[in-house]
Parts: sequence; structure tokens; C-alpha cells
Amino acid sequence: MPSPFLTPGESALADNVALLHLRRDDSMPTVLRAFDDKNEGYKEGKVSNTRFGSFPHSTLIGQKWGSQIAASKVDTGSRGRKPTKRKAEELDASTGADDDSASTKTPVAASSGFLHLMYPTPESWTLSLPHRTQVVYTPDYSYILHRLRARPGSTVIEAGAGSGSFTHASVRAVFNGYPGEEPATKKQRYEFHEQRAGRVREEITEHGLDGLVEVTHRDVYEDGFLLGDPQTGRSPKASAIFLDLPAPWLALKHLVRHPASGGESPLDPNSTAYICTFSPCLEQAEKTIRMMRKLSWLNISMVEVQHNRIEVKRERIGLDCDGIRGATVFPKTVDEAATKLREDDARAKRFRLGRSADEEASANENEASSVKEPAGPLYSVGRLVHRSENELKTHTSYLVFAILPRDWTEEDEQRCRQKYPSDK
Ligand code: SAM
Repeated sequence: MPSPFLTPGESALADNVALLHLRRDDSMPTVLRAFDDKNEGYKEGKVSNTRFGSFPHSTLIGQKWGSQIAASKVDTGSRGRKPTKRKAEELDASTGADDDSASTKTPVAASSGFLHLMYPTPESWTLSLPHRTQVVYTPDYSYILHRLRARPGSTVIEAGAGSGSFTHASVRAVFNGYPGEEPATKKQRYEFHEQRAGRVREEITEHGLDGLVEVTHRDVYEDGFLLGDPQTGRSPKASAIFLDLPAPWLALKHLVRHPASGGESPLDPNSTAYICTFSPCLEQAEKTIRMMRKLSWLNISMVEVQHNRIEVKRERIGLDCDGIRGATVFPKTVDEAATKLREDDARAKRFRLGRSADEEASANENEASSVKEPAGPLYSVGRLVHRSENELKTHTSYLVFAILPRDWTEEDEQRCRQKYPSDK
């Protein structure tokens, strides 16, 4: 089944993951189910209970993405009633990423609101996924994938996989077809925590990413990155590597062109390898850089992504804001205060009568308190100010980037000699 993360199509299908968008920064991921086996197959399918009402999945399946869906008018009966503690725990355990269970614990009134049905994206998944670990956020992974030259057809290694935030963004970056279609690529992920590796595998299946992402349960410090047997296994032939590990320098010995073990290199022999490591401490970054130098990585650089949203507005001096958010300037003298009060009164009167400033000016020709609108270019009205909003979620870490060129071969040498015969 196509993944809604990659090719969402026009409408929401059964057994696909969808986002129930409740309001800004509040979405609930759920797998749409036409039958609810936990409730003996209610014909409305599974029911998602939210703070804005109950949504039987029969009202969601088949709807166009982006549709506004009203909450159920029907009392959802036992599904609206508070489940026993044991039942709630069972639901929690069985639904995993699906946040429905949390809201199932709260009794919900019938038809209390609406939601928007959205297809999932890596960005929305990052904000709504169940956190098993610290995750990589959108500002970081956008930059990382750009620097790793991740593009359709690339193979990416990721270790550790953790909560799968980076995975969804990177599989979209390299996607160029489903298994069985041509061409299709695979992304390799390694995770040494058994339960996390298991949960990640389940998510990959639920999200339609089987065959595009391969999850290996492995300690990469010890066993490296070959697929199958750590010594004699197959090379994933990766051109991009992302290490989100506590000690990335311990994994670097496996990311070489000619492993000391004599086994295959996990790197693509025909491509430059691009690497990024993600470490919260400078000491970790330093250790990584030292090891990279020893192992002949080049162009080593360290970056910290500091993402701020900057709000720019014009501060109108001596005037009320009149629709400009937050630009109120307080008067400094009694005269200024009296003038401002008169202006406010006049503006309020104008508003009540539905008159423009010109109409008001001619109507009040003789009135001493007539209000003058600011004239002239915009800059004369006030100065531009900006303020940064720290509302975008990100996790500050030091990103170390480097590249490892491919081997220079005899054929390269011959080609070069033919092209530049005069070079000695
Ligand atoms: N990149 C993930 C994301 O975006 O959701 C988060 C990764 S989390 C910060 C680090 C992960 O590395 C943990 O899940 C941990 O179990 C795993 N890990 C730690 N040491 C490891 C090792 N030696 N081999 C493989 N995975 C390891």
C-alpha cells in the first residue's frame, strides 16, 4: 500500500495513518480502521475521541484530505464512557503511536466540534510522534539532509533510530519509487535498543514504508553497518550517514573504504560519502572530529542550527495601533495623553458611523478635534522593529559534517591522462 507520507493521493484510505488536526500545534496521529476489533466491530469503525468530540472512522475514511469533519452526533455509548484502568492500559499498549487511547479515558459529549483531516508529513509527524527518545527536529534535519546531499536514489545510514523523526524526513528525501517499481532505494537504520527497534519496525509497516526502510537491531560501535552478518554481510552502499549516537567516534572505524576486518565497506564505492554526527556536547564533537581526522575524512566543519522565527512590524509612534498587533505606544506627557484620548474618541465615533477619514474630516470641518491621518511615506509613520519568537521546537546540538572521497582508481588515472595528456 502506498505510504501517505510519500504519495498521499486525494483522500484518506482505511489502514493508512492520518492526522486529526484539532487546532494549531495540536494534531493526533491515528491509523484509520474500518472495523474496531476492540469494540466487537462497531459499524462506524474505530472511534477517535478528542477534546472536540468523537470521530468514528467511517466518517473519515474516503474523505478528501483537508476536509473539515464534524464530530459524531450519535452518543458513542461505551466508547465515550471512561474505561476501566485495565482497559485503558490495554488500549495504550495496543495503539502505540495512536493517541486515541489517551482521549478515550475522558468521557466525550456527542457533537462538540470539528477537526480537519490531514495527511501526515515528516514535519507533522515530528511534532506528534510518541517520544521514545530525544528527537531531531525539522530545522536540524532539513539542514542535515541538504548537507548530506540526500536526494532521490541515495542510500542513507541512520544510527540510532530512536523515535524515527529523522527517518521519516530522510526516507522522503531519497524516495524514488516503491519496492517493485524502478528505481527504488532503501534507507538503513540501526538501533541497539531491542524494544525501540521493534517499535520502529511496526511503525515502518503502519506507515507504508516497508521495503524502503530496513531496521537492524545492532550495537553499531561493535558490529558496524553491514547487512546481515556483521563480518561477512552485504554492504548497504551508503552515500549519506547520520550518526545520532552518544559516542559517534566509536562507530567511525566501520565507516572506512577498506575495513581492517577485510570485510566489505558499508560505503558506496562510486560516490563521495557525506557524514553528519549530532552531539549535544562540545567534548563529544571534539572527539568525533579527532577521529575523523585520523580516518582521513575531509572538509570537516561544525555547525549549530539556531532557528528563530522573527516577527517584523512597524511601531507607530504617538498613534494608537488601530489593527496593528501589539504596537501600542504609551503617551509620555499629559498633553500627549489628552491628544491621544481625543484621537481615540474621534476614531471610535468614525467607526460607529462607518465613515472614512475623509468623510469624517469634511463632516467635522469646524470641529477642533478632527483627527488627521498620518500622511507621507510609510517610514514616516514609525520605525520597523523585530522580535524573535522562540516557538519553533528544536534541539540544540553540534552538527559535525565531513566528506570521504571515493578511491582514486587506475581507470580514473587513465581517464585523466587521456583528458590532460600534457600533465606529468
Ligand atoms: N535520530 C532519532 C530521531 O530522530 O528520532 C533519535 C536518536 S536517539 C537520540 C539515540 C538512539 O541511539 C537511542 O534510541 C539509542 O538506543 C541508540 N543507540 C545508542 N547507542 C547505540 C549503539 N551503540 N548502536 C545503535 N544504537 C544506539
